[in-house]
Amino acid sequence: MAYEIHKPEEQWRAELTPQEYHVLREAGTERAFTGEYTDSKTVGVYSCRACGAELFRSETKFESHCGWPSFYDPADSSAVELLEDRSHGMVRTEVRCARCGSHLGHVFSGEGYPTPTDQRYCINSISLRLSPEES
Ligand SMILES: [Zn+2]
Repeated sequence: MAYEIHKPEEQWRAELTPQEYHVLREAGTERAFTGEYTDSKTVGVYSCRACGAELFRSETKFESHCGWPSFYDPADSSAVELLEDRSHGMVRTEVRCARCGSHLGHVFSGEGYPTPTDQRYCINSISLRLSPEES
């Protein structure tokens, strides 16, 4: 798939911190309960930290107690790209930013959370940037 934002890896490496680069560009995972947005209840919009595309809204964030920010639905289904991920001996669904292809996290379904979609978009805080909404 060709992404709207395409940059050579050296450029991503220069623009992102080493931790951001590891998660966004090398599909790393931040340690559970360490991300700045895990328990955030701030109202606002979560955008891709690599390219700034709007990805999730705080209204769909819920407390999953899994250690990462969890959302039950993207702001727009075309904002994210879903790919089968067979790494680490599991079959999971990887979530990427549809605009730049950066890794965001994984999505899990049917876990029984009391949300409208019964899906859990388990997203690394470091892949996101929250823009608080003025109220
Ligand atoms: Zn992006």
